[in-house]
Amino acid sequence: MKLLIMGRPGAGKGTQAVNIREYYNIPHISTGDIFRANLKEKTKLGLLAKEYMDKGQLVPDSLTNDLVKDRLSQADCKNGFLLDGFPRNIAQAQALDEFLKENNEALDAVLDIDVKPEVLIDRIVGRRVCKNCGATYHIKNNPPKQEGICDKCGGELMQRADDTYDTAYSRLKVYDEQTAPLLDYYRGQHLLKSVNGDQDFAKVFEDIKKVLAK
Ligand code: ADP
Ligand code: ADP
Ligand code: ZN
Repeated sequence: MKLLIMGRPGAGKGTQAVNIREYYNIPHISTGDIFRANLKEKTKLGLLAKEYMDKGQLVPDSLTNDLVKDRLSQADCKNGFLLDGFPRNIAQAQALDEFLKENNEALDAVLDIDVKPEVLIDRIVGRRVCKNCGATYHIKNNPPKQEGICDKCGGELMQRADDTYDTAYSRLKVYDEQTAPLLDYYRGQHLLKSVNGDQDFAKVFEDIKKVLAK
């Protein structure tokens, strides 16, 4: 299964991607995670991406497109993948279409996790992630058993550098201006499947399985 997962920042893409990865046994490729891993290692790409991420802006397509093509060329993506956070504008979507066409591949579906902007600022600033394994929590909606400690691995929880009020607002604005037009783009290709992301975690995943089975 070759899938995209879309949605505003904080909609629950990363959270549901973990379920989808396990249920459909496909690799989860998050461009945000790749940039953050590069920053942690202080690579040239990571340091460059940071300039944009800190402001809530998109990293330039020239860097992002090549990174995704390289990742999708790896052997584990042959039978399927879940792309999360890419594409984020029409130019990236066109680059992806071109790449898939060259390789005689096509997307099976584009999942859209729909959540109203009002709910999202709270989700973003309350998000905590494990420094060690990357598991995602929320201080109110999905707190760990012990404050600040990951249930899965015992690692320390941290707040992402870009999960501040100011950056969250810019990211939501960037979504409306640059990413939202992709919904019509994929609707036009008859690939778009929307689910209501403003429901309990488990219910959102139930709905995802339902729309993907159709
Ligand atoms: P995204 O990858 O789309 O930015 P995340 O999956 O990281 O979003 O979720 C953002 C925050 O919202 C996290 O703190 C997560 O625990 C929380 N969250 C995710 N799904 C739900 C949900 N259905 N209800 C309430 N909170 C949620
Ligand atoms: P969220 O889960 O809140 O939607 P991400 O982890 O997907 O956030 O992305 C964090 C930041 O990484 C973005 O604000 C942007 O700066 C950068 N980024 C991630 N994916 C892309 C992409 N496809 N194109 C450009 N920038 C990206
Ligand atoms: Zn952990």
